[in-house]
Amino acid sequence: MEKEKGFDIASISEWGVGSKAPLVIAGPCSVETPEQLDRTVSALVEKGFSVVRGGVWKPRTRPNSFEGVGHIALPWIKDVKEKYGVKFAIEVASPYHVEKALEFGIDVLWLGARTTVNPFAVQDIADSLKGVDVPVLVKNPVNPDLALWIGALERIHQAGIRKIGAIHRGFSNFNDQVYRNSPTWQIPLELKTKIPNLPIINDPSHICGRRDLLSSVAQMAMDLNFEGLIVESHIDPDKAWSDASQQITPEVLGGMIAGLHIREVSV
Ligand code: PEP
Ligand code: MN
Repeated sequence: MEKEKGFDIASISEWGVGSKAPLVIAGPCSVETPEQLDRTVSALVEKGFSVVRGGVWKPRTRPNSFEGVGHIALPWIKDVKEKYGVKFAIEVASPYHVEKALEFGIDVLWLGARTTVNPFAVQDIADSLKGVDVPVLVKNPVNPDLALWIGALERIHQAGIRKIGAIHRGFSNFNDQVYRNSPTWQIPLELKTKIPNLPIINDPSHICGRRDLLSSVAQMAMDLNFEGLIVESHIDPDKAWSDASQQITPEVLGGMIAGLHIREVSV
């Protein structure tokens, strides 16, 4: 995937999701109910956001946690896409998820941190993407292993996906007192050095795990020339069914993005 080998990757402006720079993907950790989704998307659109995220299938670390409402959320997503004209991104962790997502016209797919660590799972997903033209984002693996991250990106790229990007969501750790997942910025920066034309999107929500640190991490990503942000936003964050402590309302998110110092770039 090295540039010197002529690695061809589309720019974000070619993804068909709008070309505003930086790209901001915003939405709830999980799609919970039709009402929660509608109210959240409506408020996000009011604040000028047009690319929405929402987890449908949620791979959770511990059993007996909420694991997403599953495929029943897909018609709800189709409805908000039609009603508000937004693009929608969801996590896929199996070929079945890919098939269902594409059936319902999902615009952007991403592989989660717990999937990127597993080459067999990534390869199965990559095989299911052959002949498909959809942007695919690959989150860093939970562990700070750049080769594993690049390997997953290569598998998706080798399946023919050219609209490809990376998401930096931080790395799990035993004793970081500040972050839920340590940002370890040198890893995404090294990825940028190795594959300069690969868009990298920062996920301050899963790095921070708490609201008060989000804007400083997002600003760092902008200062380091990341191409975008993916931020968890919920109409009623304290009542969220997953990741409540790191979610912010669309209104707070609007203020946070407006407060960032962002250089003029094209994507
Ligand atoms: C998520 O995006 O809600 C999620 C589960 O993230 P990660 O794969 O980064 O843990
Ligand atoms: Mn989450």
